[in-house]
Amino acid sequence: MLVDKRVVILSITGGTLFYVVSQYHISLWYLLLVGAVSGIIFGKVFCRWMCPMGLIMELLMSMNPDGKIKQMYQYHKIGCPIAWISGWLNKFSLFKIKLKAESCLNCGACDKKCYIVAMEPTKFSLYKPKTEKPGDSYTCSKCLECVAICPNGSLTYKV
Ligand code: SF4
Ligand code: SF4
Repeated sequence: MLVDKRVVILSITGGTLFYVVSQYHISLWYLLLVGAVSGIIFGKVFCRWMCPMGLIMELLMSMNPDGKIKQMYQYHKIGCPIAWISGWLNKFSLFKIKLKAESCLNCGACDKKCYIVAMEPTKFSLYKPKTEKPGDSYTCSKCLECVAICPNGSLTYKV
């Protein structure tokens, strides 16, 4: 599945973007445009699927289990206009994480995978009624771990 290859995809897209921007002196405004257009279609996919800085931070995080780098990454994202715009667009994007409630087994596997639910378990859930959906929140970077772990396809990411 695509989610298993996310870091490979991020390496290719992030590396290519970095090369093109630095080699051809492309204005960072164009990168912002890429983030906004991808945000309208897919939501906040730029950080975890396309961003060179995101790739570096993820590699550093994997070498730093105590979480200090993770905190730095959060601060970095707070300062990044692409993250602001595409995060805000999570509410309005064409592609969304959708639940088929009639087939959901209430197993909770999706929530266990989601870092947003982990931070605020009473507020967010991918399957519990009367909770906010983490996929619509500013913080969801469309890792799609929730969709990948669902045992029977009750969660999908589609238009
Ligand atoms: S894609 Fe799913 S698991 Fe990942 S942050 Fe968004 S809601 Fe949580
Ligand atoms: S992983 Fe799938 S089946 Fe299990 S609670 Fe989440 S949506 Fe429902």
